[in-house]
Order: sequence, then structure tokens, then C-alpha cells
Amino acid sequence: MTSTEIRQQFLAFFQSKGHLIVPSAPLVAKNDPTLLFNNSGMAQFKDFFLGNGTPPSKRIADTQKCLRVSGKHNDLEDVGFDTYHHTMFEMLGNWSFGDYFKKEALAWSWELLTKVYKLPKERIYVSVFEGDAKDGVPFDQEAFDIWKAIVGEERIILGNKKDNFWEMGETGPCGPCSEIHIDLRNQDEVDRIPGKSLVNADHPQVVEIWNNVFMQFERMADGSLVSLPSKHVDTGMGFERLCMAIQGKQSNYDTDVFQGSIQHLAKKSGIAYGQDQWTDIAMRVIADHIRAIAFSISDGQLPSNAKAGYVIRRILRRAVRYGYTYLGFKEPFMHELIPLLAQQFSGVFDELISQEAFVAKVIYEEEVSFLRTLSTGLVRLDKLMEETQAKGTQILTGEDVFELNDTYGFPVDLTALIAREKGMDIDEPGFQQALNAQKNRSRKDAGASAEDWVNLFDSDEISFVGYDHTTWTTRVVKYQKVQNKAGIQYKIVLESTPFYAESGGQVGDSGFLYFKKSGKRIAISDTKKENDLIVHWTTDSSIEELAQEEEVVAQIDESRRNAITSHHSSTHLMQAALQQILGKHVAQKGSLVNEQLLRFDFSHFQKVTDEELKQIEDMVNTKIAANIPLVEERNVPISLAKDKGAMALFGEKYGDFVRVITFDPTYSVELCGGTHVKSTGEIALFKILSESSVATGVRRIEAVTSQKAFDLLNQQANQLDQIIELLKAPKDIVKAVASLIEQNSSLQKTIAQYQANEIKLLKAELTQQILGKGELLYLIQQVAVPQADALKNLAFDLSNEHQNLFCLLVAEIDGKASLALAISKELVASKSLDAGKIIRDLAKEVQGGGGGQAFLATAGGQNPQGIPQVIKLAQQFI
Ligand code: ATP
Ligand code: MG
Repeated sequence: MTSTEIRQQFLAFFQSKGHLIVPSAPLVAKNDPTLLFNNSGMAQFKDFFLGNGTPPSKRIADTQKCLRVSGKHNDLEDVGFDTYHHTMFEMLGNWSFGDYFKKEALAWSWELLTKVYKLPKERIYVSVFEGDAKDGVPFDQEAFDIWKAIVGEERIILGNKKDNFWEMGETGPCGPCSEIHIDLRNQDEVDRIPGKSLVNADHPQVVEIWNNVFMQFERMADGSLVSLPSKHVDTGMGFERLCMAIQGKQSNYDTDVFQGSIQHLAKKSGIAYGQDQWTDIAMRVIADHIRAIAFSISDGQLPSNAKAGYVIRRILRRAVRYGYTYLGFKEPFMHELIPLLAQQFSGVFDELISQEAFVAKVIYEEEVSFLRTLSTGLVRLDKLMEETQAKGTQILTGEDVFELNDTYGFPVDLTALIAREKGMDIDEPGFQQALNAQKNRSRKDAGASAEDWVNLFDSDEISFVGYDHTTWTTRVVKYQKVQNKAGIQYKIVLESTPFYAESGGQVGDSGFLYFKKSGKRIAISDTKKENDLIVHWTTDSSIEELAQEEEVVAQIDESRRNAITSHHSSTHLMQAALQQILGKHVAQKGSLVNEQLLRFDFSHFQKVTDEELKQIEDMVNTKIAANIPLVEERNVPISLAKDKGAMALFGEKYGDFVRVITFDPTYSVELCGGTHVKSTGEIALFKILSESSVATGVRRIEAVTSQKAFDLLNQQANQLDQIIELLKAPKDIVKAVASLIEQNSSLQKTIAQYQANEIKLLKAELTQQILGKGELLYLIQQVAVPQADALKNLAFDLSNEHQNLFCLLVAEIDGKASLALAISKELVASKSLDAGKIIRDLAKEVQGGGGGQAFLATAGGQNPQGIPQVIKLAQQFI
């Protein structure tokens, strides 16, 4: 069975059991402050378990792109070394939200594995939670009895809290789980050692393939467990491991999921896979990492220097170095795998094939830039390791690791990895110290803490009314006190709110909450989405008492919102203009919309020319003048929205229903959750501020609209008025400025000529004053020249024209002392002189410093009064 069929059968099986099949959420976690990347199938459904929001169906199944390279789940170190952990992998999952529970879930997993996939029953083991007295959770008798009836007692293993109790995080939903393991060893080995004893023992062929989690409890901040009102099922099966089992392989990399890439690498390097431990590891690492990189980029996360972007850069550099060291790839090679992957995942994760060229280009540029320093960095690291070992230790110092990071772009984990290959280690805390010392900033959210939410009443529906209202009477559902770097803050959830929570690039609203009974008000500084909640932020602790009040009027800062809205609608108008003027390849790569400006990042490979920018600006302003009415459609099925031609926005997670924003169906149709003007005339004016590059193949335009655009034009007009006045109101101002520039440059030329003449004369004069003879000529003089450069050239020319000349020229230029020392080559050699050293000593007399080469050096100093002393010292030196 091919991997494509295996995936299809999983989805078809659960569809036949009444499950709704949904697409994978993007790899890059959005709206979730606790996660950088999606690391499990349940991440996108977290809210449903917490009781915030209602799932589109009580039964859901999908395949989710997961990345386990940071935070609580980090498998990076094992990837490539073992054969069953990946950075990015697909997690097949089925969910019950308060619907079926253990009995159905376990029976179905058994049916799918043994009836549909026909995996051998005698090779399967299951685990059940043994209970934990300290936590007060009992043995999972229910799961035990169910399995006993299906597989028999002898195939059940009891597991402890570490293996068989699943928790989402420090707090939140949790419960016992039941894992399914499979023994893929050959019969001889199975006969020798029973599989049961190898379960959970890190044996590469006795692996966990599926985990069924039963969410029954919620973990509170004080550590206690509370029963959930309704119970849920959350399962996750590793797709690549499943393929290994069904295709009868002993390594995930031997399946058709990875063989395409591996064979490409084998052919390119001329080294067969399976020949050597290290070249095999390299091929596995590359075949694995390229998937994580490609899917992160196609989900909108570009490699960069911070946070999620740096995680991607690190993974990429790790792979490049394996290719370089073990497969002899000295030129970019990773990007060549993209067409292969795009093809392989078309129809599953189409975001790659639709951005194939872009993704390949970004990777190519990253490779080029890292390969530039890689070889020198590796030489340096070798040397550092040798020196370290010579000192009798096996641990590279924090400073060494920092140097490699800072100068050669070696991520810390890469240095650690290479060190480990030599049996060495790194001083990671030392590195952190070195890093902190340089940047002098500690990690941002260290010491952040949060108390439990204070619930005032239960609310099923938390709604946003801000598309239609700016003021709204409602109640506080809950609030939470949090402490972070910024101090103590409060998060407030309202039953319904006009405050727009930051998303899709649009910043959150600010405003006030008025409490009717007490007449008090508190300021809301920002509004953010947290999972699916709309969270209002304040620093005002009076919320602790006011929250109890029955009625609160939520009012947003309307003029700020209007400015934001105008920038958002203009972003849509501009995106459409970009597509028409630059081409269909333009896709959104990032967006920011606030009250000051709009910023839009998009894929495009060249600089946008001034002419194009003007066309774009004109087109947008024409659409504004046409006063096109907004057509806003809420709750449109996603398929219908796509038919209308809506361009999917960047990295958003869409439910089955979306909001479609149209300004003229032939011009701009977008899926968008933001706020918009009722008709484009409200925008009044659009003005581009700048165009620049943000990353390989990504351009950025910043623009302003409405009042901000008028302010800009007014400011420019004012400046123009001032210029006209300064130039005494000429008839044609442009001509006047042009002729001014021309005059200026011709004057400069004349001056330069005069100066050159003067220097010639000065040189002739100075030549007369050279003293000494034969082996040592010298000239020590204060002269009058306009620039330090002239001084240097003069000294240098003289020392070239005369053998054995020591020429020190000193001048006072703009109230400062300038020194130039040139020594003829012969003299440098015969007396081993060093002009750089000499001038540094002399410069002390004028409170300055300088340097240069042995035959030519310059210096400057604050104190020209010291010049006579400089000359005296130099004469003494001679
Ligand atoms: P393991 O102990 O093997 O690391 P896990 O306990 O971390 O697995 P879960 O968090 O329960 O795994 O995830 C569910 C399933 O996802 C696992 O049963 C496994 O098949 C798969 N899986 C987990 N981590 C990886 C990974 N890094 N690469 C590939 N598949 C994985
Ligand atoms: Mg794990």
C-alpha cells in the first residue's frame, strides 16, 4: 500500500464512522502564546476541550502537520540518528468532543489497524494507565477491560504517569492515555526476545504508533485535578511510522515517504544509501529537515534571526552542514528537493506546490549565505577543539561557542552536534553568559506567571460585535491576573465585545470599559486573541472588584479604529493593484495594519520600480475615487469563497465558514476577518511611503491613507514652500534647484583645481626643506592644508619620490590636529621602523590616536596646542 493510500484509508475509515474531515492547521501556531509550532493534532482544537467555542462537528478526523523542535516536545537531537523520530511529521488523528469515549475509540483503532491495514495481531501491544496515588487518579480499569476483551490480558502493559498520563501543559485538560505499540523485528529476534519486554525501551523496531488520550480532567494552577463536564477523545498516530509498519520496513526512511529524497541525494553524491553509518545519517537528516523547512516557509514562516524564524534557520544550517561534511555538497543542494516534495504532497498539502518557486528560492538564498562562512567556520571549530583538547578538557568554552555563533553563523546546537561527533561537549551556560554579556538583555519573559482565571459566570458563546458596533453593553465572563516583564496586568474576557483582537495583521483595539453601577471606568490598552478567546488587556487592578458588576459598557477608541480600518481596506485595494501591475505571482507574506500606516510584504523577485509604484498608487486612488461599496459576506462556506476567487490569506486557520470582503467582484475579493470601510471613498487618499526588501524574494511596501496621507502631503507642501522662499520665489522651482546643483558641482571642480595647484606648490616648497642626507633624509613640518586627506597624500608622495625619507606632516584642520607620517620603503626595511607605532606615540601629545601601516600612518587629535610638542618629539626621535 502506498503512503498516499494509507493516508486516504485513514480518513475514509473515520469518515465512515461519522467524522468530519478537516484540513491541517498551519505548522506555525497562530493566536497561541504558548506554542511556536503546532506539535500535535489536538493543538488546533485546544479551545474545544477548554470549552471555548463549539466544534463544527462532535467527531473530527484529519492529518496534521506537526513540528517537534522546540519547547516541551523536542525530538531534534534524535532525528537522523534514529529511524523513527522526525522534525516534521504527520499526525493522523480522530477526535470526539463530548461524544464517544474509550469503548468506541479503542475498538475502532483495533479495527483499522488489523482489518483495514491488516497488521498482524500478534505483533501489537497496548498500554493502560496504572494510576497515581499522589495525584489521586485511579488505575484505568475501563480501558483495561476494553482491551482485555479485544487483545487479551497478556498483550496489555501497565504504564506510569510519565508514559500514560497526558497533559496539555502546566494547566489545562488532561487524562489517561492508551498507547498502541508494534513489534517490527524479524521472526528470529522475536523468538529470542519477547516483544512485550521491549515496549517503551527505545528499540527502533518496537515503536509506539498510536496514542489514544482520554480527556477527563482539568489541571488547575495549584496542581489539583477537576473532572471535566464532558469527556473527550484525542488520538494521534504517527503517519510515517504507520507506513513503515504497513510497508514491512524497519525504518521510516525506507518507506516511499522518504525514499524519493534519499534516492535523489544518493544519486547526487554518488554514495548509495545503506553503505555507511555517517553518510546514512546525513541523508536521513537532509530528507527529514527539508520537509520541516519547506512546510514552515510555505505556511508563512521565513527563516530569520529570531523566534520561530530562527528555529527554521537552525534546522536548515544543520542539514546544510551534514551535506557539506558527509556528502561533499559544497554548493547549495537543499532547494533541489523542493519540486520533488511539492509533487509528493500535492493534493494533501497544496500550499507547497502553489509556492514552489518561492520556497525553493528562499532556501537557495539561505544555503548560499550559510555556505559562505561554513568552511572557514569548520576550520576554526576544528582548531578550537584541538586547542581545547590540548588543555586536557573535552568542553568547548562559552566564548568559543559564542565566537562561532557570532562570526560564522553556527547555531549553538550545530556546534554542540559537531563537538559531540568528536566526543566533546560545549559549555552551554557559558555561551548564554557570553551572549547576554554582548546583548546585555536577558530573556524576555523570564519570571512570567499567571494565576487561575477568575470565572464570574459560564458563557458558551463569546461573540465579537465590532463589525457593527463601537459601543456595547455586556458583562465580564472572567479575568486573570498575570505578571510579566511589563509588571502586573489583567486579561479580561467579555461576553460580547466591540473590541477587535489583533489578527490578520490588524492591531487590536484600545478603549474603555465603563462600569454602570459604580460609574468607574478602566482603560483597555490592547486586545489580543488567545486561542479563540478575545482578551482585553489592562493594568488597572480595580477590575478585581468591578468585574462583579452586572453591566459594563465596552467602548473602543473610535478615531483610532477608523484610521486602522482605512489602512486595512487600502491594503486590499493595494494587493489587487499589485497583482494587476506586477503579476499573479504576488502573494501576501505578511501584513501590519495600525493607526499609523499599512505595511504589506509580498513575494516578488525584483525591486518595484518608481514607475510601477506610481501606477500602483494611481490605481488605488482611482478605486478610492470610484467610491466602491463594501460587500461583506459572513459565514460563507469555504468552497464557495474559493469559487468567488478569494485569495487565501497568509497562514490563517480557517474553519468551514469564512468571511469574504469584496470591493468590486472583478477587482478585490479576500477572505478576511478585519474591519473595513463601508465604501472606498471614506479612505479619501492613499500615498506610498517606501518600498524595500525584507528577505529573499520578499518586498515590502509601506503606505498611509486618509488623515495620515493628508498630513504627509501637507508636510511636503510646507517644505516646498520653505524652499521656494529660500530661493526667492523663482518662476520654475525645479529648474532653479537643478541649476543650483549644477553651479555647486562646477564650483567644487574649480576649487579642487586650485587646491591641487596649491598642493603642488607646497610640495615643491617642502622638497626644499628636506634635511639630512644619504641613509637618512627627514622632513618634519607643520603645514596648512584644507583636508586630512591632502596631508596624507602629500606625505606619501614625498616619501615615494625620495629614497630614505622620514616625512612627518602636521596640520591644524577645523580646530583639530592632523598627523601624517610616511616613511620610504627602504628606510622601513633598513631601520625596521613602523609608522603606525610611531604615530600612535606622537598622537598622545595632541590627545588623539591613530594607526596605519609600517610605511604610512595617520592620526587625529583634539588638542592642536600639542603640535609643537609633536614636532619636537619627532625631531628628537630622528
Ligand atoms: P515517542 O515516545 O516515540 O517520542 P510520543 O509519546 O512523543 O512518542 P505522542 O506525543 O503520543 O508521541 O504522539 C502521538 C504519535 O505521534 C506517536 O504515537 C508517534 O507515532 C507519533 N510521533 C511522535 N513524535 C514523533 C516524531 N518526532 N516523529 C514521527 N512521529 C512521531
Ligand atoms: Mg516524543
